[in-house]
Amino acid sequence: MNYIVMDLEWNQSYNGHMGEHPRMPFEIIEIGAVKVDKNLNIIDEYSSLIKPKIYKKLHSKIRTILNYDEDDLSLGRGFKEVCSEFLDWCGKDYIFCTWGPMDLTELQTNMDFYYMDKLPRPLKFLNLQSIYASVTNTSGIPQSMSKLEKAVSEMNIPENEPFHTALNDARYTALVMKEMKAKNINQLYSFDLYITPKNKEEEIEVSHNNQYEYISRGFRNKHAALDDEKVTQIRCYKCSKKVKTHIDWFANSPSSYMCVGKCWMHGYFCGKIKFKSVNNNYYVHKTIKPIDKQGIEAIKQKQEDIREKRKEKRHMKSSN
Ligand SMILES: [Zn+2]
Repeated sequence: MNYIVMDLEWNQSYNGHMGEHPRMPFEIIEIGAVKVDKNLNIIDEYSSLIKPKIYKKLHSKIRTILNYDEDDLSLGRGFKEVCSEFLDWCGKDYIFCTWGPMDLTELQTNMDFYYMDKLPRPLKFLNLQSIYASVTNTSGIPQSMSKLEKAVSEMNIPENEPFHTALNDARYTALVMKEMKAKNINQLYSFDLYITPKNKEEEIEVSHNNQYEYISRGFRNKHAALDDEKVTQIRCYKCSKKVKTHIDWFANSPSSYMCVGKCWMHGYFCGKIKFKSVNNNYYVHKTIKPIDKQGIEAIKQKQEDIREKRKEKRHMKSSN
């Protein structure tokens, strides 16, 4: 299996939402990628400019970061032709690797715009931005995601070529991938959620990389999802026994819930539910990962802070 480290550049409407096409708010103007072998060495490269169909004028923000302009793009080929050629180049046995989840979303949005065949599902990929965060931040305290430029500089990779051409960024991403020395990197995959499961049969339930992961079908609202036993049940990520909660599910943000459970054999673990809404449907992305004493304390503290804030709010309302 090869790794396809991909980077895309895209443009958007020059007039903001006014001139925006609802089926393609962002139009891909460049595909760059490198093929990486199992030892994380670059073995091939792909690069092509795309002649835009919808947004022919570059948005001012995009113009300032790119190293080319409308004249260069007008010499490119159409998206469908380039994308088909690119997917052929990827080969038969590969996994996409990207810096963040957006490139795969935009690739598929653009493919849908041209009614191309969908990518096979479930679609696994390596989100190198989040892998980088987990490798370099071992404190357990969540930190914001790094830009590619920051990771390249932190890994002491020579910056001989400009950023923001798709091929250069793909090369830099592949160098960071190798340099960060993540263990068993092929197990650190995520699932692309551009297309979510339509029914129970398409739901994804898998244990990998020392964690359990579940991606549900759509529910009409969050309450309906939280009423579903499969959504709220927690199983040990190791022996998959159903266990009781140690700290029951609580909302830690408008779109996410947390809990702590315990297996008598394998210890404590943390459950997280994140909601994703697509066309007024709510999908659940649940993960269960081991947690240590410090982590449990941090979750308790979080729950306490949220309670306090709520009390304060109530107090403010009643005193107004
Ligand atoms: Zn267990």
